[in-house]
Amino acid sequence: MSALSTTLIHHPYEAPEGFAGPAHAVHKASTVFFPTVAAMRSREWKDKTAYTYGLHGTPTTYALEERLCTLEGGAQCVLVPSGLAAVALVALAVLKTGDELLIPDNAYGPNKTLAEGELRAWGITHRYYNAMDPQDLAAKLSSATRMVWVEAAGSVTLEFPDLPALVRICKQHGALVALDNTWGAGIAFKPFDLEPGAPEPLAVDISAHALTKYPSGGGDVLMGSVITRDTALHLKIKLCHMRLGLAVGANDAEMVLRSLPSITLRYRAHDEATRALAAWCQTQSAFVQVLHPALPRSPGHGFWKTLCDRPDGGAACLFSVVFAPHFSQDQVDAFCDALQLFRLGYSWAGPVSLVVPYDLRSMRSVWPAEIAQGTMVRFSVGLEAVADLQADIAQALRAMVG
Ligand SMILES: *Cc1c(COP(=O)(O)O)cnc(C)c1O
Repeated sequence: MSALSTTLIHHPYEAPEGFAGPAHAVHKASTVFFPTVAAMRSREWKDKTAYTYGLHGTPTTYALEERLCTLEGGAQCVLVPSGLAAVALVALAVLKTGDELLIPDNAYGPNKTLAEGELRAWGITHRYYNAMDPQDLAAKLSSATRMVWVEAAGSVTLEFPDLPALVRICKQHGALVALDNTWGAGIAFKPFDLEPGAPEPLAVDISAHALTKYPSGGGDVLMGSVITRDTALHLKIKLCHMRLGLAVGANDAEMVLRSLPSITLRYRAHDEATRALAAWCQTQSAFVQVLHPALPRSPGHGFWKTLCDRPDGGAACLFSVVFAPHFSQDQVDAFCDALQLFRLGYSWAGPVSLVVPYDLRSMRSVWPAEIAQGTMVRFSVGLEAVADLQADIAQALRAMVG
């Protein structure tokens, strides 16, 4: 007879197979068991044929990866602990000393900070290009350019680039194209099919996605994914992922699996509310510019229309306003402080509406020609009623001037 402690660990009972329910099981593991040494030696960890170690995948992470591939139209997926880790993994897997990276000047800020910090220290150079000017990208591509980031819409300012044109220029040059697909989330447009119906699909090479935003939808999980269609490129990323040990927690993966079935409904609800609020803000004299790709006067609206204006497309949950120049920074801060339903906080695509004031001068190498001068505030529209959110902005505008 074994001791009780031993029996509790090596308990003979196995629950019957065949349980089925709407939730996906949470398989927690660092250790995975092998029946024999031969199995231990022969099992493959780089694909989904087996299990070897928690870092390399469990039924929970495999299921999430496959569903994310379906969402974005990719073939392979790697999960990482945050959206920024996805951006970093792409850079570390693909770039080496002597390579040059091109980043849009309106990219997600920490993507630029990574280039200015670690990448520069490792001898990887970078240049910023104007995403609204494909000729600027073409002029900055050189023999050293290994990879180009694209992002649609731009971070904070939400200009919408001619994404197919940018991707085509990179392809002609032979540079890899990595997309930060957090805004589109696989819904607004299809990153691996940017010209539906074209004889040769126009596709990015890599799509990085902050699952923290729409796929989670709760403001309570940090996670990211890196999706590809090229097996060799995926293996390069998978190897780098293994070496860096970028595992995700099983409970977090299950939370994203639980939210994913409602992503299209949430995207639509956020989208409709955001369009209504952005259109109303255009009628307010305090704002000299409202930035939201579905607004006809917003920069790049025509490119947004071509790529995303379908019944199952969309324009996400973000819009920014530029305050008239006579409002001081203190007044704009007072406006943000006066908001009640819009909470001060980073991130977006959760149930709670959020607001962040931004100083564009510290974020851009040049002030973009298409953006009015003035203090900028970005709203992330949650799932509250539009009328209540509109009333909240109206009362904060009165509080600011009163
Ligand atoms: C939030 C965000 C990220 C980073 O995601 P985290 O999970 O917060 O690290 C990357 N890119 C974009 C466009 C984002 O909005």
